[in-house]
Amino acid sequence: MTFTREQLTEHIIHAGQFLYARGWSPATSSNYSARLSANQVLLTVSGKHKGQLVAEDILATDLQAQSLEPHKKPSAEALLHTQIYNWQPAIQAVLHTHSVNATVLSRIESAAAIEFTDYELQKAFAGISSHKQPLLVPIFDNDQDMPRLAQQVQQWLDAHPDCPGYLIRGHGLYTWGTSMQEALRHIEAFEFLLECELKVRACTAP
Ligand SMILES: [Zn+2]
Repeated sequence: MTFTREQLTEHIIHAGQFLYARGWSPATSSNYSARLSANQVLLTVSGKHKGQLVAEDILATDLQAQSLEPHKKPSAEALLHTQIYNWQPAIQAVLHTHSVNATVLSRIESAAAIEFTDYELQKAFAGISSHKQPLLVPIFDNDQDMPRLAQQVQQWLDAHPDCPGYLIRGHGLYTWGTSMQEALRHIEAFEFLLECELKVRACTAP
């Protein structure tokens, strides 16, 4: 389905209200985007309160993360969004959040990836039909150098074409979908799994 810029802007504003209300986008953090066309995306501008977004807080960029509206500055992490749209043409929305669960779990897990198994909610991800099918989520070390971080992410994506999202250590979560609705479902599922995993580890710690 093709949406107008106005409709996609509404989708992003509503996503922000939902994610802020859940506590997953505190203190102007996070950024959200939606595909506008084959080679353009709509993205939140830098530094806005995510529960109070208005149409002015959204800008169009090309797939190299360059602003198409010179008076508006894209988020520093725009490149991490556009790389996902470049990676898979079917992706229509990318969401990045800074939840407590994503931040804490990615800090205490020192491995390069977390594997979720035996959680029924793994089935919330496209392509997973059983709790026995593991969900592998990579964790990249945080980096303020976005091209360098994007390069790390790209290597993983190229090797894992089914990857539904990733964590950045001590920072947050990236996930996406073939619609905004699917991307939001993925965020909720990730948050559920991250919280379960933290609780399981707390309960079973020696
Ligand atoms: Zn971030």
